[in-house]
Amino acid sequence: MVVAGKLKSYLKEIEKNNKKGKKINAILEVNPNVLKEGGKGKLAGKIIVVKSNINVKGLNASCGSKVLEDYTAPYNATVIEKIKDEGGLIIGMANCDEFASGSSGETSAFGPTKNPAVLDLIPGGSSSGSSAAVAADFCDMALGSDTGGSIRNPASHCGVVGIKPTYSSVSRYGLIDLSMSLDQIGVVAKNVSDAALLLDVIRGKDERDAISQESKKLNLKKIEEIPRNIVVGILDFKVQDKRIQELIDRKISEASEKYGWKVKKIKLDNLDLAIATYYLLVYVEFFSGTRKFDGRRYGEKIENVAGPEVLRRILGGSEISKAEHHGRYYHLGLKAKKLIADEFEKTFKKVDCIISPTVPRLPHKIGEKISIKEMYSYDTLTTPSNLAGNCAISIPIGKVEDVPVGMQIICDKFQEQKMLQIARAIEKI
Ligand code: GLN
Repeated sequence: MVVAGKLKSYLKEIEKNNKKGKKINAILEVNPNVLKEGGKGKLAGKIIVVKSNINVKGLNASCGSKVLEDYTAPYNATVIEKIKDEGGLIIGMANCDEFASGSSGETSAFGPTKNPAVLDLIPGGSSSGSSAAVAADFCDMALGSDTGGSIRNPASHCGVVGIKPTYSSVSRYGLIDLSMSLDQIGVVAKNVSDAALLLDVIRGKDERDAISQESKKLNLKKIEEIPRNIVVGILDFKVQDKRIQELIDRKISEASEKYGWKVKKIKLDNLDLAIATYYLLVYVEFFSGTRKFDGRRYGEKIENVAGPEVLRRILGGSEISKAEHHGRYYHLGLKAKKLIADEFEKTFKKVDCIISPTVPRLPHKIGEKISIKEMYSYDTLTTPSNLAGNCAISIPIGKVEDVPVGMQIICDKFQEQKMLQIARAIEKI
């Protein structure tokens, strides 16, 4: 059988280069039953890796943390049920930044993941293992979670496609949360079509996620159609490394020439509020969400075993949300979030999509000391879409000195079909 052959070659590649060989360290656990699973459906023959903060029954949802090192998921997240119903094969669980808190893949308690494109560089995070596994040819596609960029950022650094769907369009039931008002499960794949296929399977309303909403089915064939009469908004933003912006500009001018797209420069005045707003909300919601890890029910008490980034967020969140502040800071964060969302809404009346680099800088060397501010600045261009709830995709568009660079295409809420068509049209160039 073709599938069995492909599966065995992926298993061989994992055996060769995950813990040994190149030591990519993208996979924390291989599904011991994978050779017996699989079935018929839209995902028949597709081999999928799952980020370790999503429950897959019988596998370890460690969240890249000592807290849940011994936690075997007792149930399947809704997205996993959907994948299994369509015949997809879960090959294993991916490494990630601890509790999805990070931009580099270095905060995992189980060691950093390497970037398969340039082994001494970070792969990005927090869905580091999901993206590295796709890039290293350990699987066809992967699931990740994106709260502030965690799918798009590593997809960009590893040279693969990553999608953060519209907030509430994919069920979060079974996702261990970082920040519940921003978290979204999404997909990583080798190309736009595969990403669209997996997204189409996992999307849709779910009674078990109170905020989830129904969305239109994707028309997978139509993704091949070039969208006409498009107005592309290019984000007016000064990227530290000019070579990154040059790659973006070149691609867009090629696309506009080939497809007759109009191009406009777009300013987002509230962009510089995004990082402060994002981290304020994340700190508070993460602090609140982690109170369940008190050592009684699940695993270890989080304060006893977690790494510095997780502790920083817990401590920060507990300070910001102190009763004596009467919720002042959190509410300020919500106000700023609304400003950002409103600005996007207005902008999408003028343009069909907003294009920028996914990440404004190149990845650093694994282990290199960078400041917290620098680390958080990786998220400058991705967090706004989480705050506004829009959909966004990162696609590879070239390299700067062997390092892959991603282009981010942001569309309005529930405009995944259009976003995928634009992405596919650019991918074809
Ligand atoms: N880098 C961001 C953070 O550390 C994003 C994380 C994410 O999207 N899960 O919070």
